[in-house]
Amino acid sequence: MNYTLIDGKSFAEKLVMKVANAVNVLNTKHHIKPGLAVVLVGQNPASEVYVKNKVRQTKNSGMNSVEHRLPDTTSESDLLSLVNKLNEDDEIDGILVQLPLPDHINENSIINAIKPSKDVDGFSIPNVGLLSTSVSGLIPCTPLGCLLLLKSYVGELSGKSAVIIGRSNIVGKPMAQLLLNENCTVTIAHSKTKNIEAVCKGADILVAAVGRPNFVKSEWVKKGAVVIDVGINRLPPEGDIKGRLVGDVDFNSVSNVASAITPVPGGVGPMTIACLLRNTVTAACKRRNFNEPEM
Ligand code: NAP
Repeated sequence: MNYTLIDGKSFAEKLVMKVANAVNVLNTKHHIKPGLAVVLVGQNPASEVYVKNKVRQTKNSGMNSVEHRLPDTTSESDLLSLVNKLNEDDEIDGILVQLPLPDHINENSIINAIKPSKDVDGFSIPNVGLLSTSVSGLIPCTPLGCLLLLKSYVGELSGKSAVIIGRSNIVGKPMAQLLLNENCTVTIAHSKTKNIEAVCKGADILVAAVGRPNFVKSEWVKKGAVVIDVGINRLPPEGDIKGRLVGDVDFNSVSNVASAITPVPGGVGPMTIACLLRNTVTAACKRRNFNEPEM
């Protein structure tokens, strides 16, 4: 079957340009420059890369970027004090605390200390509640990126059967909620799901957010399904060659049956950062009751 490669990289580049235009409009019309604060605790190498990319792209889109790098010995109360300071800082529209945090810090306490209006990751309980009651709040960036790709490549989602593999708070559950809000018939599969192959085979839209390399095989996928691969897994290095990044979907086999599929890298990953920038502009407008420029 001929498949369409869902080019998240190029979609994200266009979205970042729209965000930059929106920032320009806000600057010209209202003399404001949205600001994003990113907080990194400790030295997790993957987090370092994510934070570096987020800071670079925030600056490139014309926003203010503020970076706080704290040692891994930082106490929960010191981190809470910083979050509270950023909550009160009028120059800051979005606060992102990079996860995972060191074990001695309770992630839920930190996430829920962020003012919901500045919670650009959309992980706090008020934003989760808004999403599950179909009211517009700040939506988690990765599922939002997947939804924008699906709307662009599939069009009308209403009535489609969607299966999401994974039920994490940051990807699986909000993805399911977003697709339910689009009137899909949604199933969430997880590690206790029986006969997962058959469950997946019923999907018009299959989203994999598992964290297991090449987990989804072609026999699990209905002919013509649209497949979104959220997974980012690094294979072990071979000799001197650094391990490759692969998704949760066995791209080589699944691309023979899917009608459209995201690659890894270059699929969902770039959309996550683009949506973070978009959420920061959304937060800047909502907080001031401004109409949001088109993005
Ligand atoms: P997570 O919190 O570890 O959740 C993984 C989910 O997969 C869990 O719900 C788990 O089920 C389910 N699972 C694990 N093994 C399974 C199995 N054998 N069969 C069925 N379900 C199984 O992971 P996450 O944070 O959602 O991330 C998932 C993947 O997406 C990772 O590769 C991560 O790196 C990637 N990711 C990418 C981006 C991006 O920007 N592209 C952003 C975030 C995450 P249980 O709940 O039953 O344990």
